[in-house]
Amino acid sequence: MPDRNCHLLILGGTAQAARLAAAIEPHFGGRIAVTTSLAGRTSAPAAVAGAMRTGGFGGTAGLTGWLRAARVDLVVDATHPFAARISANARHACAAAAVPRLILARSPWRGNPGDDWRRAADLEHAAAMLRDIGKRVFLSVGSQGLGAFAGLKDIHFVVRMIDPPAEELPLDDYMLVLGRGPFEEASELRLLCDARIDAVVSRNSGGTATYAKIAAARRLGLPVVMVAPPPLERGLRVDTVEEALQWIENGGAV
Ligand code: NAP
Repeated sequence: MPDRNCHLLILGGTAQAARLAAAIEPHFGGRIAVTTSLAGRTSAPAAVAGAMRTGGFGGTAGLTGWLRAARVDLVVDATHPFAARISANARHACAAAAVPRLILARSPWRGNPGDDWRRAADLEHAAAMLRDIGKRVFLSVGSQGLGAFAGLKDIHFVVRMIDPPAEELPLDDYMLVLGRGPFEEASELRLLCDARIDAVVSRNSGGTATYAKIAAARRLGLPVVMVAPPPLERGLRVDTVEEALQWIENGGAV
């Protein structure tokens, strides 16, 4: 059972992180003060329960200093599976500041009957594979992943982003679609059909918020170049908010 003034830091930016933050007050009353940290990648992030801070910490050293200055007792790393750097920083910083850390992860998607997945080890591999797979491609790899596709000249890309980009995307031929998940299968079907998409590139992010495009591609018989997630950061891991609440209840003890 945590102390009355326990301070929990959630490294967030995901729906699961927001669900955990929302569960703290109902579960623990005033016994836990929660701060969710966001990188600040989107201009109008969804509101989260509890306190919120935004922006990088300044690497491992900055995060270590922040944990100490804010007297953080527990850290839950609930960041996106492809956000590998912050997770590595969290491991090092929590070790340095002697703060227990839990990874709230989500399992990657598994193929279903009818899926036509072409598995790629990383974005560069996906770009190399794509030449032989599609000419009108729905590219759903996050804004920072687009550079890997810059050299592909004869492919029309449809790219979805949350905010309009500050500058031209590094792609030869593209159309931009703005939207924030979670997405529905019906609207994903419409998008893929209207844009006459013949292949999808997706990172295997797991979770439900962005799965609809995978289900829609299956329905249309489209190939999906599926990019594997980076190796999971070392540390204690759970897959559900309920398990994370239990870990917090135990004060970070296993
Ligand atoms: P990243 O490559 O692992 O992190 C790059 C840098 O951004 C980190 O070194 C850190 O800067 C800062 N940062 C990342 N997450 C942060 C957080 N929650 N709070 C404060 N600083 C953070 O991460 P990313 O892939 O750019 O993702 C950034 C954020 O967006 C994450 O919070 C993630 O959960 C969310 N997100 C990412 C994706 C994705 O596709 N990668 C998708 C959905 C949501 P300093 O070193 O200066 O501390």
